[in-house]
Amino acid sequence: MAAPMRVLVTGGSGLLGKAVEHVVLKEGGKLEGEEWVFLSSKDADLTDLDQTKAVFERYRPTHVIHLAAKVGGLYLHMRENLHFLRDNLKINDNVLETAHQTGVTKVVSCLSSCIFPDKTTYPIDETMIHNGPPHDSNFGYSHAKRMIDVQNRAYFAQYGRRYTAVIPTNVFGPYDNFNIENGHVLSALMNKTYKAKKEGTPVTVCGSGAPMRQFVYSLDLGRLIVWVLREYDEISPIILSVNEEDEVRIRDAMGMIVEALGFEGEVRYDTSLSDGQIKKTASNAKLRRYRPDFTFTPLREAIQMTCDWFAANYDSART
Ligand code: NAP
Ligand code: GDP
Repeated sequence: MAAPMRVLVTGGSGLLGKAVEHVVLKEGGKLEGEEWVFLSSKDADLTDLDQTKAVFERYRPTHVIHLAAKVGGLYLHMRENLHFLRDNLKINDNVLETAHQTGVTKVVSCLSSCIFPDKTTYPIDETMIHNGPPHDSNFGYSHAKRMIDVQNRAYFAQYGRRYTAVIPTNVFGPYDNFNIENGHVLSALMNKTYKAKKEGTPVTVCGSGAPMRQFVYSLDLGRLIVWVLREYDEISPIILSVNEEDEVRIRDAMGMIVEALGFEGEVRYDTSLSDGQIKKTASNAKLRRYRPDFTFTPLREAIQMTCDWFAANYDSART
C-alpha cells in the first residue's frame, strides 16, 4: 500500500485554497492516514527562500498543491505588472525548488487562462500556452505563470520529478477578494451591486460588458484539483474549465448578479475603461477525456450561492 500523503496547500487562505479545504475537510475528500496543511502568508512569505525552506522543514510534505500567488483583477494588473512578475517568479521558484530539494513526490501548481497568447485561434488548448505574447494588460503575471510550466518540464527532464499544473479559467466563489478596485470581475461586481442596493444608487460595470468569460465555481475547481493531485499523471498541464458553450458575456453575468441580489436600480457601463481581453475561450477537451461526466454547478446557481455567502459574511469578507 502506498504511504499516506502529507499535503501542503500554499495559498490555503485564499479563494481556491478555501475551496480545496472545504472539499477535503467537509466533503469527505480526506482519506484515512492523510494529513493536510493549509498555509497563508502569515505562516511563511513565500517570496522569501529562507521562510519557504523553514515551512517545508516544519511540515515535511510528500505532496504540494501550490496555489499561493499575487492575484488580482484586470485593473490591478494594469497598475502593477512589475510586482506581479517579480513576486510570482520568486514564489514559484522558491516553492518548486524547495519541493525538489526536500523530495516532494508531486506538486500541482496553478496557471491561468489569462496567460494564453493574445493573438491566437480559438479555442485555446494546453499545447498553445507559449505560442505568442500574452495580452499587454497582464504580461507580468502571465510570463511568471508560464515559467511554472517550463520549470515543471525541466524538473522532469533533469530529475524525473512529476510536477504538473492546472489551468483554471475565471474562478469565483465564497472567500473571494470582493475588493472593488483590485478584485476579479464577478466579486467586484457583487460588492458594487450590494452597496448600490444598500445606498439606492446606480451600479457601474467597467467597460462595455461585451467580453466573454468561462466562469468556474471555486468548489467545482477544488474537487478537480484534488482529483488532479490523486489521479492525473501527466507533466503537461490540464485546463479546468466549463464547456465552451457555457462562456458568457460580462453583461449576462451581471444580469445574474442583479437577480441574485434583488437589485432594482440602474446598471451603467463605463466604456472609457478597458475591456481587457475580449475573450480567451479555452477547450476543456482534455478534461472531458479524463472526466466525461464531471458536472459543473450551473452559473446562475453558483452566482446565487456566492451572493448569499457574501451578504451573510459581509463583515469578515475581503472587501
Ligand atoms: P487569492 O484568493 O487572492 O489567494 C491568494 C493566496 O496566496 C492567499 O492564501 C494568500 O495568503 C497567498 N499568498 C499571496 N502572496 C503570498 C506570499 N508572498 N507568501 C505566501 N502566500 C501568499 O487567490 P486565488 O484566486 O485563490 O488564487 C489561487 C491560485 O489560482 C493562484 O495561483 C492564481 O494565480 C490561480 N488562479 C486564480 C484565478 C481566479 O480567477 N481567481 C483564475 C485562474 C488561476 P494571505 O491570505 O495570507 O494573503
Ligand atoms: P480577466 O478575466 O483576467 O480579464 O480579469 P477580471 O476578472 O478582472 O475581468 C475583467 C473583465 O471584466 C474586463 O472585461 C472588465 O472590463 C470587466 N469588468 C467589468 N466590471 C468590472 C469590475 O468591476 N472589476 C473588474 N476587475 N473587471 C470588470
